[in-house]
Amino acid sequence: MDFDLIFRLRNFIEVLVLVGGHLINIKKNIKMITIFFVFLMIVFNSCRNDNEITKNKGLKVVTTTTMITDLVRQIAGEKVELKGLMKSGVDPHLYKATEGDVNLFLEADIIFYNGLHLEGKLVELFEKMNKRGRNLFAISDGIPKSLLISSSEFANNYDPHIWFDIGLWKKAASFVANKLANIDSSNKDFYLNNLIFYLAQIDSAENLIKEKINELPKEKRILITAHDAFSYFGRAYDFKVMGLQGISTLSEASVFDVQNLANFIVENDVKAVFVETSVPIKNIEALRQSVRSKGKEVRIGGELFSDSLGNTDKPEGTYIGMIIYNVNTIVNSLK
Ligand SMILES: [Zn+2]
Repeated sequence: MDFDLIFRLRNFIEVLVLVGGHLINIKKNIKMITIFFVFLMIVFNSCRNDNEITKNKGLKVVTTTTMITDLVRQIAGEKVELKGLMKSGVDPHLYKATEGDVNLFLEADIIFYNGLHLEGKLVELFEKMNKRGRNLFAISDGIPKSLLISSSEFANNYDPHIWFDIGLWKKAASFVANKLANIDSSNKDFYLNNLIFYLAQIDSAENLIKEKINELPKEKRILITAHDAFSYFGRAYDFKVMGLQGISTLSEASVFDVQNLANFIVENDVKAVFVETSVPIKNIEALRQSVRSKGKEVRIGGELFSDSLGNTDKPEGTYIGMIIYNVNTIVNSLK
């Protein structure tokens, strides 16, 4: 059995495990059953095509954030040599390139980054690579500007946290698959088949999270987090979203910001606020303290994965695992 077949079957099993907890609901959900059959068809179809693909292990791909590393892994599997700069828990707003990173960029055949100024401290390096004519792609270029959330307070006027709108992330996935297919045309079928398979997995995950979110009445859909990473999520699923720090963790929360948000929590009887794995907890603790001084108590509802995925040995180490984990944490804490 070759690596690609193992890769696809592993992916399929991962999805079965993720979805497993929700099997009880399946008899109520004909749509889910259809999706399972689509999975099976795609898996067997793509396994058959696999034998025709020429091996090419040479392509070196470098990615910045853990979300993009996972995306390339899902599409390219073992066909490329993949290196992600940022590890789990690293904040992309603050990340500075090391000498080793610069060497990786210089040796790379393709570089994928988020863009929209998410990797604010790598901009100079991207410009240098551009001048050298590297295959350097901002995945946000795969998304029409009209679908982005504008923000006057952020460097280039758009909110860069595009992965929290699943529809936008699917466009990013297509962008990545098409770039890989163009540059490495001998593996074109492999990348494009994987894209179809991956988009089906994402759709299935989105059905699950929509079902989960429906457990939460509209008036309880208030998501307060350490920084403003969840605006796309809020727009997609009708949550009021507020972050203590701005869109970038570079901007510090002032005493005034803390007071304002504490007043909002008290007035709206918000039960829980959320910390983020890539942002220090101290500001959220200051917020809880401020709420307490007004005679109320707000819990920490859990730790969300915002600008970084979890460890790769956990389900939250993938994009799909991360969104399911976040939604379960948010809904269970706010119910
Ligand atoms: Zn952020």
